Amino acid sequence: MSQRSVGESSRQATQVDESTSAEVYFDPTYATKIGSYLTDFDSLLNQVNEAYGHLTEAAVDLENINSDTQPLDEGVKRVIDVEAQLKLQQRLLNDIKMRISRGEQIPNLVQHFKNEYRNVLQKWNSRSEDVRYLRNENYLEFKSKVWEVNHPNDPMPPLVDDGEQDEDLMVMSTSTVTLKCPITTTYLEDPVTSQVCKHSFSKEAIVGHIRQSRTVAASCPVSGCSKYIKISDLKPNKSLARRVKQWLQSQEEEEEEEYMDVE
Ligand SMILES: [Zn+2]
Repeated sequence: MSQRSVGESSRQATQVDESTSAEVYFDPTYATKIGSYLTDFDSLLNQVNEAYGHLTEAAVDLENINSDTQPLDEGVKRVIDVEAQLKLQQRLLNDIKMRISRGEQIPNLVQHFKNEYRNVLQKWNSRSEDVRYLRNENYLEFKSKVWEVNHPNDPMPPLVDDGEQDEDLMVMSTSTVTLKCPITTTYLEDPVTSQVCKHSFSKEAIVGHIRQSRTVAASCPVSGCSKYIKISDLKPNKSLARRVKQWLQSQEEEEEEEYMDVE
């Protein structure tokens, strides 16, 4: 199974690391090897996604017979944690892969991975339940499906009451919220959000990316994302547009203040 090969890969790397007391260097071709480990994550994450579906279906069945859904609720939270762990590892490996393919040397690669992983995992675990679960789209989906069983005509009350919902934070709780387009790497212009993976882009850039692929659905340009995006999956994201605008304004004000300080 794919899980085993991920384990094997880290064991191999450990052996390399321990076989020599000098720093181990990897040539850029090693990046290809890491890339093949990374594909294992896609199938693991697909299985995680299926788990959400199964838990939700089971909870709806339980709710229909007025049985306790709380254990499944806890189950969804555990799956969210597992998904976060996988995504954090995937992101780190991706980063290492890119650095190695650029010819960069990372001494003590295994230790580097372990340290970095410990840091990001700590960060994830230190987040409030609110951020980790209540804003997670799969948890919201689970809750609303269960809610609908006994309240078919009423919308579910919000799980978190914080006025305006922070869409980006809600769906990408494992990543740093970014106001930059992953394609242009500059601030989002006319931001649109893919409804299949919730990644956001400058409209022109992502439409160009999809057209360039000459297929109906192009692979999401965000590294580590395995989804395919169609133009019809893109929805304008007004709250994100507003936040970019606010951020840029606050930056301008700061610059003005600095300028005043110098004078
Ligand atoms: Zn994506």
